[in-house]
Amino acid sequence: MPAKEIIGHGKILEHLISAVDFEKVSHAYIFNGEDGIGKKFVADYFAKLLLCNNRIEDKSKPKHLRLRPCELCPSCLQFDSHSNPDVIYVTHEKPRVISVDEIREQLVNTVSVYPYKGDFKVYIIDEADKMNEQAQNALLKTIEEPPAYAVIILLTENKDRLLETIKSRCEIIDLKPVEKDMIKTYLMKEFKLPDYAAENAARFAAGNIGRAERFAADKDFNEMKDAVLSVMRNLDRNGAAESVTAARKFADYKDRTRYLIDLTELWFHDMLVLKATGDANRLIFRDDYTTLNEQASKRNYEVIERAMETCENTKKRLDANVSYDTAMELMFLHLKDFT
Ligand SMILES: [Zn+2]
Repeated sequence: MPAKEIIGHGKILEHLISAVDFEKVSHAYIFNGEDGIGKKFVADYFAKLLLCNNRIEDKSKPKHLRLRPCELCPSCLQFDSHSNPDVIYVTHEKPRVISVDEIREQLVNTVSVYPYKGDFKVYIIDEADKMNEQAQNALLKTIEEPPAYAVIILLTENKDRLLETIKSRCEIIDLKPVEKDMIKTYLMKEFKLPDYAAENAARFAAGNIGRAERFAADKDFNEMKDAVLSVMRNLDRNGAAESVTAARKFADYKDRTRYLIDLTELWFHDMLVLKATGDANRLIFRDDYTTLNEQASKRNYEVIERAMETCENTKKRLDANVSYDTAMELMFLHLKDFT
């Protein structure tokens, strides 16, 4: 993954690259940002750069591309084939928790072993906010007194689930949504999407490159968007029974329920934007300005934020195997509630 292919996050790459350049690499990082925003790409690129035996310096390049992995040394080649022994991806068995044993076995007990070659040994803990308290405390000991070569990168969607003691010892890097035009250009180039389709997918991705890719690759995207719209446009007009029927319609796209919920959440996000700025041009569903405005005027900030939370909680319920019908019906009933 060359840096130029990481979409957006130029400032963050620049910061990480200069840390390598000036030998100011931290022992522990938190890369925080929503799912699909590019945390793993940035972490992988950083790890590869740290481990490369022959980094290339090119002062003619923009700052975030100035130092790069050579792509040719044994370390880079091993990295690309997922066999570099100096990068360890901490894995976990249960979907919702990283246990203390997993942190001990994969990290605490191996960190004292020197890197095979080079100056660094990198640990990447994906979904680090799933570490339970014991696991975090076990990790804390390592972060407090790390060996000189160790770099530990925690990837989180919600850094606030980590203990203060962990956060205070990590350099925290927040990944922000990527600019729409950057995503659009990328989709046109990589997915060969025509202009209007790229514009559409980029707009609804709302800064999330992972979501943009899924939309771009999904031929049903427009249909799904329309399914969400047909429900949301009538949200306040429909009775509870009609909303439940509407929820069942989503079942046509059962394997992609998350996108539908994301789109639903964006509808409410638009309401917030509208309340805060009144600017129709900043809306994702800008063709529905009138309806959004009408719905927003009936709700205060708190109600809208609660609706967005409901969407997030529904995704969690589905992850936890709550029945599809129950989860979706509950969601729509909550969304209609604006008192
Ligand atoms: Zn290399």
